[in-house]
Amino acid sequence: MKYVSTRNTSREYSASEAILKGISDDGGLFVPSSFPNLDGVLFDSLLRMDYQERAAKILSLYLDDFTFEELLDITNAAYSHFEGDDPCPVVKIEDSLYMLELWHGPTCAFKDMALTVLPHLIVGAKRKLGLNEKTLVLVATSGDTGKAALEGFKDVDGTEVIVFYPSKGVSEVQRLQMVTQEGGNVHVAGIRGNFDDAQTAVKKVFNDRDIIDELASLGYKMSSANSINWGRLAPQIAYYISAYCDLVNGGEIAFGDKVNFVVPTGNFGNVLAGYYAYRMGLPVNKLIIASNSNNVLTDFFNTGVYDINRIFYKTSSPSMDILVSSNLERLVFEASGRDDATVRKLYSDCAREGKFTFDTDKIRGGVFEAGWADEDDVMGAIDTFFDLDDYVMDTHTAVAASVYNDYSCETDDDTPTVIVSTANPFKFAPSVLNALGIHEKNAFKALAKLQTVTALDCPESLATLIDKEEIHSTVVDSALVGAAVINFVKNK
Ligand SMILES: *Cc1c(COP(=O)(O)O)cnc(C)c1O
Repeated sequence: MKYVSTRNTSREYSASEAILKGISDDGGLFVPSSFPNLDGVLFDSLLRMDYQERAAKILSLYLDDFTFEELLDITNAAYSHFEGDDPCPVVKIEDSLYMLELWHGPTCAFKDMALTVLPHLIVGAKRKLGLNEKTLVLVATSGDTGKAALEGFKDVDGTEVIVFYPSKGVSEVQRLQMVTQEGGNVHVAGIRGNFDDAQTAVKKVFNDRDIIDELASLGYKMSSANSINWGRLAPQIAYYISAYCDLVNGGEIAFGDKVNFVVPTGNFGNVLAGYYAYRMGLPVNKLIIASNSNNVLTDFFNTGVYDINRIFYKTSSPSMDILVSSNLERLVFEASGRDDATVRKLYSDCAREGKFTFDTDKIRGGVFEAGWADEDDVMGAIDTFFDLDDYVMDTHTAVAASVYNDYSCETDDDTPTVIVSTANPFKFAPSVLNALGIHEKNAFKALAKLQTVTALDCPESLATLIDKEEIHSTVVDSALVGAAVINFVKNK
């Protein structure tokens, strides 16, 4: 399998090259040159595997410079950090309604599904290419990626990781998870601004010649742990296919039946992985894109206009407080018939005017539906599911649940539906409690109260945060991210 850039399809890269580079030199994102086909024989074997084997098998279709055995070692190591036997169980809520719980990993959010795998892929890719440079992993986070990257890369040989988060834009638990991070190769800094400012600043560093040269003289090459990196997306394809296998094995659907997936969305990475699974032949009826009040994607899918010139809202689902949805570029590439010239044109419009217009016929009427939920909807969904189904969900998952509710009221679609559940409710305890009518702003008191109200156990990694020392106190202006990067590397 070869990879090309969304902005230039003439040059091909191996999987290892794509993973190490993270983002293409032309500013585009790496995409596979074709989609492997999930035929009946392959499906049959997947049905009999556990999650680690399924993930290794699916990764081996895309990362063909790794062997299946190498990938199985990687998935076994990665998912050994998860609670329980199954890293991502499918839980039945009602007839034909399921939750795919992706948050049983070390940092309690779905980012662990890929960020426990990515460090192994980066180390492996360097070995494959015979490189011994050190890798500097730069991360912009809206809250969850940062902690998952810090955990994943902590003390991994030959890597340094630097995380930038919006200093006032993450929850208290998310902030504490990051600023208390231990490890000899980890650095964390707040940015004055929102996630989009952080992401834009980090993207600039990737393309800054002076910084690239200075890092090279210090023995480093940069890579990304954001979902722009192919090594982040590839492991996410696996859980869509695996969830389908679980539904077949559990007798909930017959092999070949279609299902819907509802995905709470910010940077468009998670739902894009679902789209790739669909392109491989997974029987999908609808992929329902769920946004919070930052509903730039809802508008795009319904009108064809992508316009980031709008108010940025801080919501109770901070990991989705995003207007610049990076991975949309990969979908635009597919929807334009893999036309790199179109992508170049649209993204230069976007860089200039903060908006572009795309032919709606090419994205509508297909597999995608899009909706959004405001804060009241989110609170209502948490409360209702707890009341009726005794199921506790976090604020991000609740965005999806609310959007699905609207969708099923407006359509008579009774296709079995999987809501992709992206965070442990304890991670956003004050907001979840608020939805249940209990007001507790203190993050730690909220953990204890949520435990009492729901009779669920608070994950230990969150409960013990209170005892940890805050180690990382740097806060910088977004204009100074490049200087901060050099500073961290020189003074490590
Ligand atoms: C990152 C995140 C999302 C959004 O995922 P994208 O891949 O950016 O669309 C949703 N929910 C939670 C809890 C997250 O951490």
